Amino acid sequence: MKIEVVTTLPELFEPFTKFGIVGRAIQNGKVDFSVLNLRNYTHDAHRTTDDYSYGTGVGMVMKPEPVFEMLDNYLSRHSRPWVVYTSPQGEVFDQRKAIELSKHKDLMFICGRYEGMDERIMTIVDEELSIGDFVVSGGETVAMVFIEAVARVIPGVVGKYESVEDDSFYNDLLDYGHYTRPSEYRGMTVPEILRSGDHAKIGKYLLKDALRRTMFKRPDLFLKHELSVEEKAALIDLFMEMHKKC
Ligand code: SAH
Repeated sequence: MKIEVVTTLPELFEPFTKFGIVGRAIQNGKVDFSVLNLRNYTHDAHRTTDDYSYGTGVGMVMKPEPVFEMLDNYLSRHSRPWVVYTSPQGEVFDQRKAIELSKHKDLMFICGRYEGMDERIMTIVDEELSIGDFVVSGGETVAMVFIEAVARVIPGVVGKYESVEDDSFYNDLLDYGHYTRPSEYRGMTVPEILRSGDHAKIGKYLLKDALRRTMFKRPDLFLKHELSVEEKAALIDLFMEMHKKC
């Protein structure tokens, strides 16, 4: 898939696109990534992309012309991407949205700065997406988070897709607890069953652990999750165990 980021700070994306899962996805051609510098679509000596706010004069606003010119230029070479404006006023991004976005052939993230973009750019935006109910100073870090989440769910990007399917929120459940070597550390041991090699038992144990964590940490997730027969059976087991402990 193609991903573009529209920004006035292209340098911020240099390390991001070289390392980790995103770096690998770009290197092995799963993601065709480019950064579009808004300053390349300005016509003054200072390459100005912001100006005073109409009405109050308080704060600076990103000018509309560079964004429109960037898109015109892009469309003269490519078909239309799905355009996302990173904005605290958008729908809050989640795993479901990451999966939905990963199905687009071409995704473009527009990063605002200052007070945000001139409202007229909304005419070219397909959706506004927020990282949460707080304000950061620019859309770049937000776009990086969105891109990491989207890249992770593109088949072939993460070595073992099962590990993505077990991630928290993928199926509206939290992930189970993970352990690595050593099997004993400072008197704390890795649960016996995980070392047993019995895959059927391990599977059941991990499902119960995911359900237990969801129940105690994020019970709200159960409201949107339809339990499978296997999950119902694991929940009953879990309740029985808890009942025995009482
Ligand atoms: N005045 C704006 C905030 C501007 S912050 C408002 O109150 O709505 C500057 C830029 O940072 C925004 O244009 C947006 O691109 C980005 N940004 C800030 N907080 C964000 C959030 N929670 N989610 C997504 N983008 C955000």
